Amino acid sequence: MPEQPDHFCPGCGVERTFHARYPWHFCDDCCRTAVDGEGRKIHTFNIDLGGGFGFRIEGETQSYSCGGILAKINNRPVLIRDAYMGGIVAQPWTTCSTAGTPNRTHNSLLPDATKDVLRPIK
Ligand SMILES: [Zn+2]
Repeated sequence: MPEQPDHFCPGCGVERTFHARYPWHFCDDCCRTAVDGEGRKIHTFNIDLGGGFGFRIEGETQSYSCGGILAKINNRPVLIRDAYMGGIVAQPWTTCSTAGTPNRTHNSLLPDATKDVLRPIK
């Protein structure tokens, strides 16, 4: 087994297990602090057991499903989406991000990333 690099959450510095697929992922505690472009808290979840990404803005009753969203953690842009084997993963967003381009975004952080509408979840 190849030696794996140490990994520390880019939000708070806590030590985390390294995942080659998500080399810069945030810890769960930081994920829970994610906000949208207007500073509203975002709750994220898998829409079913097989994965899929869903989110809800705190204070709103409507949830949405989409391919991933751009949000902010510690006032930095992050991409949040469902993880490969279930769960949710947040990583720093950069214009050269290899994490994949989100096809939908809820806020105006990077309006060019908006291509499709969000699907409401009942
Ligand atoms: Zn953290």
